[in-house]
Amino acid sequence: MARFRADWVWTSTGPVRGGEVCVSDDGLIKRVRTAHTTGAKAEQLPGILLPGLVNAHCHLELSDLRGRVPGGQGLTSWAQALLARRRAPQDEAIRDALDQAFDLGTAAMIDVTNSGAAMPLLAQGPVSGVAQIEVLGIEPDRCEAALEHAARLLLAPGLPARATCHAVVSCAEDLLEDLLASPVVPGPAVTFHCDEDPADADLLRDGSGPWADFLDRLGRQWRGRLGSAATPVQLLEGLGLLGPHVALVHCVYTGARDLDRIAASGTAIVLCPRSNLYIGGILPDVPAMVQRGIPLAIGTDSLASVDDLDLLKEAVVLASAFPEIDPSTWVFALTTGGARLLEAGSASRGDGSDLGGLVAGAGHGMLLVELPPTEDPVATLLDGTQWPRRWLCPPRRP
Ligand SMILES: [Zn+2]
Repeated sequence: MARFRADWVWTSTGPVRGGEVCVSDDGLIKRVRTAHTTGAKAEQLPGILLPGLVNAHCHLELSDLRGRVPGGQGLTSWAQALLARRRAPQDEAIRDALDQAFDLGTAAMIDVTNSGAAMPLLAQGPVSGVAQIEVLGIEPDRCEAALEHAARLLLAPGLPARATCHAVVSCAEDLLEDLLASPVVPGPAVTFHCDEDPADADLLRDGSGPWADFLDRLGRQWRGRLGSAATPVQLLEGLGLLGPHVALVHCVYTGARDLDRIAASGTAIVLCPRSNLYIGGILPDVPAMVQRGIPLAIGTDSLASVDDLDLLKEAVVLASAFPEIDPSTWVFALTTGGARLLEAGSASRGDGSDLGGLVAGAGHGMLLVELPPTEDPVATLLDGTQWPRRWLCPPRRP
């Protein structure tokens, strides 16, 4: 068994000074002490011990598009550029992305896939994960074909997986009900894109805007098949599809009343701030989410909209943009906030400490981020400096 002492240890209540973590030879945390005894043999490390981080939203299959999809003009133009450049997923780019994510401290990932190409690589690679098989469909024959494709991918061995919708605006109303109902058997949260662009609400409210033009150009028979509501969140609420089994990704344009609905239902939100800035140049109203106590997680989104899969850089952006919020909020979101979405739940969901905390019995790895002497380790951690980081013990594979 190895004992690690450091200036600071991340715990369920935030950073604690001078802690000690004992880890078994096979990578299981045996004990966490916040006031270590002196005299015992242990490494004394500068900086902070963190649990392995959770990337709550990625699309590994787009990894070969790094730097190839221009941003800055909003989601619809980014999506069209993506479709024009997209090719068959490249295994080597996916493997490189996974290795990079692991080296940067990612222990687990919620990966969204259409093709299923990343699933075997995620199952074998250094990062554990859940695949979310993204279904799009508006006309009945397309919905049926998409569900059959998802059902085939769900049979693939080696990786927990579930089907989800791509977004409220790309699925027929009855398909949303099929995919997003609260599960009878508890499972990982279902995650999907929501309010990433104001065009989402335009389409549902009065069938206008860039998405309407886009769907018309593709020849989709969408009129009368998509749901009708003032906003995506109101559509979901009306269909009874919000709840702790759901995490909405982005919510860049979600207004105050809809955030009230999200908070009241126990729905989580996954923030992808660097992707939002790259695609649309704007961040969500995160303070309004924090004020309402909405459970938050953080994802990178794909390499088609960020330069790397470094989760701490996402937290740095949030800490810099919202200095009025306690920066520990972002570390919780990167750890237990994402982990609780991986845990089994349905009408209720745990706090994520089993899969995302430095607690006895956990096996999702422990990182050291080397910091200079500091009285405020989280502010220092997220001050924008690329502090050295390394795994003291890697995550155990299930
Ligand atoms: Zn996405």
